[in-house]
Amino acid sequence: MALKDSQLVREVLLSFWKIHILHHAADGIVYGQWMIGELRRHGYEISPGTLYPLLRRMEVQGWLKPVRTAPASRYRRKEYKLTRLGSQALELIREQLEELHREVFEKKKKGRGHHRPE
Ligand SMILES: [Zn+2]
Repeated sequence: MALKDSQLVREVLLSFWKIHILHHAADGIVYGQWMIGELRRHGYEISPGTLYPLLRRMEVQGWLKPVRTAPASRYRRKEYKLTRLGSQALELIREQLEELHREVFEKKKKGRGHHRPE
């Protein structure tokens, strides 16, 4: 059975991208087109049809907040900033990511997990 891109996206990569978005929103304003370019730089080809709903979903979760723009500029890109809740989410994810990273790469070196029952 071949690994399908769509499978990887749905099961894992969507979460990776959300972490990227939270991380960059912590540094400053983010918007769709910039995020697409940033993810491309990391080797991910993500379409607007995937990214924009992701940003909207993160807005609904209360992790991102649209930056208010003047009425005259309503056709401008939608810019987001990180909320307090988003910042809390990022903090938790960082801790767990660090733990996960340690485990996954440690295991790779040792070739064996240490929590396996005898
Ligand atoms: Zn990045």
